[in-house]
Amino acid sequence: MNLFDTHAHVNFNAFKDDGEEVLRRCFEAGMSVVNVGSQYSTSKRAIEYAHKFANFSKVQPSDEGSTFEGGIYAAIGIHPVHLKKGSFTHIDPEELTEQEITTTGETFDYVKYLELARDEKVVAIGEVGLDYHHFEENDDVDFLKNLQKETLLKFIQLANVVKKPVMIHCWDGYDDLLEILTNFPVAKKGIIHSFIGSYKTANKFIALGYKLGLNGIITYGDGYDRLIKEIDLKNIVLETDCPYLTPRPLEKGTRNEPLFVSHVAQKIADVKNISLEDVAKVTSQNAKEILGL
Ligand SMILES: [Zn+2]
Repeated sequence: MNLFDTHAHVNFNAFKDDGEEVLRRCFEAGMSVVNVGSQYSTSKRAIEYAHKFANFSKVQPSDEGSTFEGGIYAAIGIHPVHLKKGSFTHIDPEELTEQEITTTGETFDYVKYLELARDEKVVAIGEVGLDYHHFEENDDVDFLKNLQKETLLKFIQLANVVKKPVMIHCWDGYDDLLEILTNFPVAKKGIIHSFIGSYKTANKFIALGYKLGLNGIITYGDGYDRLIKEIDLKNIVLETDCPYLTPRPLEKGTRNEPLFVSHVAQKIADVKNISLEDVAKVTSQNAKEILGL
């Protein structure tokens, strides 16, 4: 079974001691993983990991007749919260764990990001997008919203220059995002990562050609069962967003890793009443298609 984790952060500090080991485990299981950058340093590290594993790409012997090639890939971008310098407390939805996140206040540098974007192992531009959820009391909200929108537009332009899809982060901003993606289309479309909207909102993104990334959030209860039922499997890709959002039934506080994407696949199989193998096969195919692999 070849699972595809389209959104992981093994390039983050939570894996600084054993990141390579974690990716090797995925690789040996025939998995594919996209490590996603949230700023320049983590984007670079995502590319470094992808190159480290570049020579390992092969068809897994356990999958007779399969032509799927496992691989480690990268996405590069600036997460919208990193446009502001400071720190904030991040509380995982329903996970009830708190993390203090320090942000750098990075500004978009076209030349630097163009160089990263052109790397052959970079399969998407992201994560980029809108985050209206983490504003704090003294924030100039209008200024920050505009900064996020302007930066997203610059990354959309970059994606179109290098002809790659986008990996979108969006929290509390789906209306603005839909407007932007409609008025400034990305030629290769992309993934709406960690989708937590309604199935009606989901359908609007699907109509634009986007895939929805589902992760551990869907295992925290039945809140997303309706969405899973209403959305055709061909529009879904799997992700972990590790080290965050550890899926159930794993214990709260366990560090999430790409291998645990199987629990997300299992939840979709249960709700849709189809086999785990079918979920793995179709979502991996979707990932390959949207990421141009
Ligand atoms: Zn992420």
